[in-house]
Amino acid sequence: MQTSDPTNLTIAIVGAGYAGAAAARALSLLGANVTVYEQAPEIREVGAGIGLRPSSMERFREWGIFDDIAKVSSPSDYFEILTATGEPIMKDTWPAHGDQKHTHLIHRGDFIDTLIASLPDGMVKLGHRLERIEDHGDRSTLTFTNGTRVDADLVIGADGIKSVVREQLFSDAEPVFSGERAYRAVIDVADAHGMVTDDNLRMYIGKGTKVYLLPLRHRGQVSFDITALCPDPDWAPQVSKEDMLATVAGFDQRIVDITAGLDMDIVNIRGVYDIDPIERWHSDSVVLIGDAAHSMLHHQGQGANSAILDAGALADCLRDTDTVAAALAAFQAQRKPVTDELQRISRQGWTEDEVQDVFPGQKPGAQQPAP
Ligand SMILES: Cc1cc2nc3c(=O)[nH]c(=O)nc-3n(C[C@H](O)[C@H](O)[C@H](O)COP(=O)(O)OP(=O)(O)OC[C@H]3O[C@@H](n4cnc5c(N)ncnc54)[C@H](O)[C@@H]3O)c2cc1C
Repeated sequence: MQTSDPTNLTIAIVGAGYAGAAAARALSLLGANVTVYEQAPEIREVGAGIGLRPSSMERFREWGIFDDIAKVSSPSDYFEILTATGEPIMKDTWPAHGDQKHTHLIHRGDFIDTLIASLPDGMVKLGHRLERIEDHGDRSTLTFTNGTRVDADLVIGADGIKSVVREQLFSDAEPVFSGERAYRAVIDVADAHGMVTDDNLRMYIGKGTKVYLLPLRHRGQVSFDITALCPDPDWAPQVSKEDMLATVAGFDQRIVDITAGLDMDIVNIRGVYDIDPIERWHSDSVVLIGDAAHSMLHHQGQGANSAILDAGALADCLRDTDTVAAALAAFQAQRKPVTDELQRISRQGWTEDEVQDVFPGQKPGAQQPAP
């Protein structure tokens, strides 16, 4: 059985998203020999903002990159939920973690760039799309579509919601359509019709539509996100300005005006999917992390944070147990109960009435398997 002394381990990470890059940072600090294999020819993220919770910020402090993240993010004190026309419903501070009390609002591109820049040169190999994984017990072989074959003592599947590692070794269940679409754009504060007055995240709720304004003050911008119920399960639908305007009918006129002024070329439009919880995330030498293990809907804003916390927990388990197999079992025991619950509550984004309007006869929650 492979000992888990990180300095003796050759680790292959599949996927250079938040989960893969964070795991690479945490494990290389422990002295492991880490290589990250990313399918894309270059690292790119869609134009949108996310919130990095106090618990993630604490991990960044531990990994020596807190200041780098802080430089490209704005600390937020609280989040607020309002009606479509701006009447307050609730306001709450972010759950603190140790000394960390702020959620840092960041552009997705700045976040991945900062994580990747913290890795040693050459650690990330672009243009490597995993085609096949063979698990030999205490080591595995990866085959990429470019013909490269690699052996590793530990493989970390951080390859997202459509994970090849998950599908070939752990579960052939398909992603599940949520019955929603997300429209996301980063715009200048000057184009936000006076709706950005501080650094706090606000969500406006109308019938079947939620609008998020996530300020990125350090960039003079705001991430403007609409999530709307929609029965079409297309992963990347074609949508017109009129379709978008229909989702915000009846909202605060300034939200309607922001939508009307959007440059459709910069709007990212996606069908929203998650996965059902899967039973097992690991063998003795392969493990899933991030969306590959537990993709969840964005209603709790916890997907990226869960990816960061997975990376930290996996490194802790490898440091603190004797064998890789025991470390992977300890990792799943620590993290899966947390993410199972987040997956469950993230599906409670809508009332039964709202869902009935779009999906007659169905209960709220993820709606149907992907086509
Ligand atoms: C609309 C929306 C809003 C969101 N808002 C928030 C938020 O506010 N806060 C939050 O915490 N989370 C949010 N999330 C969730 C968050 O974006 C994800 O949970 C997070 O990106 C998961 O990171 P990951 O690294 O696990 O997966 P991914 O980001 O999907 O990265 C996977 C990587 O693996 C690569 N890859 C895939 N297949 C292969 C292969 N075969 N070979 C090699 N490489 C491969 C991909 O190219 C990619 O780089 C949101 C998600 C959505 C859809």
